[in-house]
Amino acid sequence: MQSSILKEKLLIDGQWIDTEKTHRVYNKYTGELFAEVGLADERIVDQAVGAAVYAHKHTEFNPGYRYTVLMRAADLLLERIEEFAGIIAREGGKPITDARVEVKRSVMTLQLAADETKRLVGEIIPNYNVSGRFLYTVKKPIGVVAAITPFNFPLNLVVHKVAPALAAGNPVIIKPASDTATVAIKLCGLLEQAGVPKGYVQCVVGSGGTVGENLLHDSRIAHYTFTGSPGIGKHIQQTIGVRKATLELGSNSATIVHYDADIEKAASKLAKMAFAHAGQICISVQRIFIQNSVRDEFLEKFLKEVSLLRVGDPLNPETNVGPMISEKEAERVERWIDEAKQEGAEVLVGGSRKGNIFYPTVITNVKKGMKVVDEEVFAPVVSIFAYDSIEEAIELVNDSKYGLQAGIYTADLNLSYKIPYLLEVGGVVINDTCCYRADQMPYGGVKESGNGKEGPAYAIQELVETVTVVVNLEE
Ligand code: NAP
Repeated sequence: MQSSILKEKLLIDGQWIDTEKTHRVYNKYTGELFAEVGLADERIVDQAVGAAVYAHKHTEFNPGYRYTVLMRAADLLLERIEEFAGIIAREGGKPITDARVEVKRSVMTLQLAADETKRLVGEIIPNYNVSGRFLYTVKKPIGVVAAITPFNFPLNLVVHKVAPALAAGNPVIIKPASDTATVAIKLCGLLEQAGVPKGYVQCVVGSGGTVGENLLHDSRIAHYTFTGSPGIGKHIQQTIGVRKATLELGSNSATIVHYDADIEKAASKLAKMAFAHAGQICISVQRIFIQNSVRDEFLEKFLKEVSLLRVGDPLNPETNVGPMISEKEAERVERWIDEAKQEGAEVLVGGSRKGNIFYPTVITNVKKGMKVVDEEVFAPVVSIFAYDSIEEAIELVNDSKYGLQAGIYTADLNLSYKIPYLLEVGGVVINDTCCYRADQMPYGGVKESGNGKEGPAYAIQELVETVTVVVNLEE
């Protein structure tokens, strides 16, 4: 039972402001009211963008100080892991053990971004075939950045946008997912405490259809960095015209288990990663391709591991699978599974729900044309396929409109070297599942999974303008 309801204001132009209306955030497991947070409107968004433009033009935020602010924020977050993890578990429904990992990763992301402030350099261009000219480039902040973020990693994915934007010297306006807005507001407080200059970090809470649209239509914003669903990603790109967007979108990620793999290891890790955060991870294991000769052995071990998963209260440290973000989403998955069953799919385990809790579900006899295969399921549901040759497996993995990451379990060294060139994805994981991410690595998809790479060293390159300088050396 939660003792008191959190009340949070919005940080706009360096002030914590009261808003006319508030937005209610619920505990996703108990359904109780968790927090009441400020709700932005068109006027507040306009004020935030104006303050960001002003800060960009008039407030110095040099690289040395950016480093200090980001490192201080990392230190402050390190001291408040339990508080932040508790918020993520309550408003996001993420099991507390995973929520703690998310906060620790966010500390690391802040530190990685701080380091990038020291590496922002241009280059000297070779003057081959050019006489009397010295050519070089400088990097400068791109301008006001809007960071639009999803519910599933409500802290670390905000940090993955805010920290590189600040490291590059840009003011950033956060539009967090309404369902999980509290932790983003708390992050603003932390950055303020760390000394971020007025107007460099602001947060506007409100639905995508209102506040999100206000941001998209404001031509003073130079760059949009978005993580979310492919449909909204496409809409953003269409709306903002020639302005730039980094789009980190969804997928129906796959992992291959080849005949020469360590089957026990693969089965155990896949059972964990297909259902982590109730499958609501962009690189969640949605499709598993098993070589026919090891299919039965794999399935036996895999299903045993799945049966050991604990489903329930995210605040219980023993819980592996918590609730989905909403009952509406759980109902959607139920419909997709029913449709698949009517078309011949067989549910080996799970397939049912209680409110917004969806039980870990394994399906087989699935085929292209079924939503559970073609679309992003974003739920604790995994489909099992079998293949004969590795060429067939690669073709099946690539037969998708998405391409974020793929995994392969194999002992074949040659195959490990070759397969990254053959799979149509932004990242290949050898001897682990597709659901692996380290915060320093370049991370981002191809096809409808988006464009651009995150990971502070890569994200920052999209958040600076490269200015070419030509010096005439002729007398
Ligand atoms: P979503 O529904 O697309 O929402 C993402 C954000 O966009 C939210 O803040 C949402 O606001 C906002 N939004 C919605 N409509 C908008 C509009 N018209 N204009 C501007 N903003 C708008 O995604 P989600 O359900 O929160 O997150 C799940 C999706 O994120 C999945 O597809 C997942 O694969 C993807 N994801 C991708 C990555 C990656 O790195 N590739 C990582 C994590 C998640 P409201 O919710 O407040 O309305």
